Amino acid sequence: MTQPFPLDQSGQWCELLRPRAGAPRPAIFLDRDGTLIELVEYLSAPEKVRLIEPAVALIRAANARDWPVVVITNQSGIGRGLYGWNDFAAVQTRLLTLLEAANCVLDAVMACPALPDSNAPCRKPNPGMLLSAARLLPIDLASSWIAGDSAIDLDAGKRADLRHGWLAPTGYGPRDVDDARALVGSGFEAVLLEPLSGLAARLTG
Ligand SMILES: [Mg+2]
Repeated sequence: MTQPFPLDQSGQWCELLRPRAGAPRPAIFLDRDGTLIELVEYLSAPEKVRLIEPAVALIRAANARDWPVVVITNQSGIGRGLYGWNDFAAVQTRLLTLLEAANCVLDAVMACPALPDSNAPCRKPNPGMLLSAARLLPIDLASSWIAGDSAIDLDAGKRADLRHGWLAPTGYGPRDVDDARALVGSGFEAVLLEPLSGLAARLTG
């Protein structure tokens, strides 16, 4: 039977939306829940998808500069059996529709269904989703940015040898600021609790 969803051998959602070739480029790795869309616990209903405008501005700026944009999202609700990949796919379709209406596009979407205590390679703070994306697309990890509302997003970036993180002020951002600050060092810098439109401005500036 043909697998209806873009799952890799490890069971991770691994969806390439815009194949590209050429020299490695910096990418924007973007968390989904609480960063790109408003935080809804265990989101499975497409009608609850609400874009967060500064993140949309960031995607638009990355598109204009031809930097790949990769969404990386922990989805333990799947591992917990609260919803399925069909629900994730419906949310994903809604998200892509809203982004298209906002004149911006994603290059790839990665999602990890594993439980928090699984230590699965794809589960943030592990770097598996970033590393998988860097195998699908020509990405220069060291000059890429990780943007998210949780310290584990930035930690995943740091573990993938990124040097730049951005903790969004939305979602869990205010809760996680101390944990995110603790990641700074050893070649990793982070901007904390500034709107993502600030990163968009850096890309266009
Ligand atoms: Mg998040």
